[in-house]
Amino acid sequence: MGITKEKIELLHTQIAGAKKIVITAHKSPDGDSIGSSLGLYHYLKQINPNVVICHPDKAPYFLHWMPGFDQIISLEESGQLVEDSFKSADLIFCLDYNSSSRIGTMEKPLVASNAFKVMIDHHREPDENFCDLMFSDITSCSTAQLIYEIIAESNHLDKIIKESAQCLYTGIVTDTGSFRFSSTLPKTHRIAADLLSRNINHSEIHENTYDTNSLDRIKLVSFALLEKLVVLGQYQTAYISLTAKEQERFNATKGDTEGLVNQALAIQGVRMAVFMKESDGIVKMSFRSKGKIPVSEMAKNNFSGGGHLNAAGGKFVGNMENAIQKFVTILPKFVEENKSLF
Ligand code: 5GP
Ligand code: MN
Repeated sequence: MGITKEKIELLHTQIAGAKKIVITAHKSPDGDSIGSSLGLYHYLKQINPNVVICHPDKAPYFLHWMPGFDQIISLEESGQLVEDSFKSADLIFCLDYNSSSRIGTMEKPLVASNAFKVMIDHHREPDENFCDLMFSDITSCSTAQLIYEIIAESNHLDKIIKESAQCLYTGIVTDTGSFRFSSTLPKTHRIAADLLSRNINHSEIHENTYDTNSLDRIKLVSFALLEKLVVLGQYQTAYISLTAKEQERFNATKGDTEGLVNQALAIQGVRMAVFMKESDGIVKMSFRSKGKIPVSEMAKNNFSGGGHLNAAGGKFVGNMENAIQKFVTILPKFVEENKSLF
């Protein structure tokens, strides 16, 4: 699953011979999926210019500043272009997702394509059946870090131009919670240091990503914390829920609730947190935990999802009331089964 000389060689044979390379990443883009897509894009461009990025949907506004963002084609906005790109692709990169089901309706053209497929990902339990070459490291803090390592193993560090460095750095920062999560290793800092040495402005990156909130977003978050946060002390668990109507009240746009779940987790004594967000008859569940509490199991076993040990997601088909009901019903058993970890 890791990076070997043979795999690097095979990868470069494919890159060199490709007439059309398509970079894909998961639905509901985050800093790592956009950062790794663009970081890889700027790198590949120097070896083989026939490369495009196709994503299922558009990223939240706080990632639009990233260099090359305008080049990303989304299925949501340019369906035909995406379909055509898949049809002509002979090499497809699958970044930051472990199963074709994570790319929404883009799954169909991906699975139908005969292109050589390369997975670069760090999510648990990767599906071994949909890619021809897999770089999967579940201990990696981010896909961006993995891409850096692949480039390093290719002896191509000189090909990480400033734009690539900005994007990879953003992927690492966002997926490590600004170097906080336990997935942050000494090598993560070494890689970040190398990226910083490429003339990039890290405070500008942080500012662009984290300090560009709309007033509506601040009010939505304030409302959620004041009115919608529930702490279940007995289970060291907290949850926040937002119905579609509540989101409408604050003109919520994509990304406005990003990171909200971490605020619930940041409460003293809380070991597990959930954020539930309703839209179109589906409640999207976001789980976070401290220590070794496996929220990926909670997501996988109860909400058709998955992810990482401490950060996972899934969904509930139905309304908010029933989603909350389901969660609080299964919670006691989950806490009991993981008693030693709480
Ligand atoms: P978030 O809560 O930020 O949406 O997602 C947290 C983590 O769980 C991310 O790494 C994400 O890729 C993963 N994740 C989120 N939603 C799903 C889902 O529906 N299915 C799976 N398998 N993983 C998910
Ligand atoms: Mn990631």
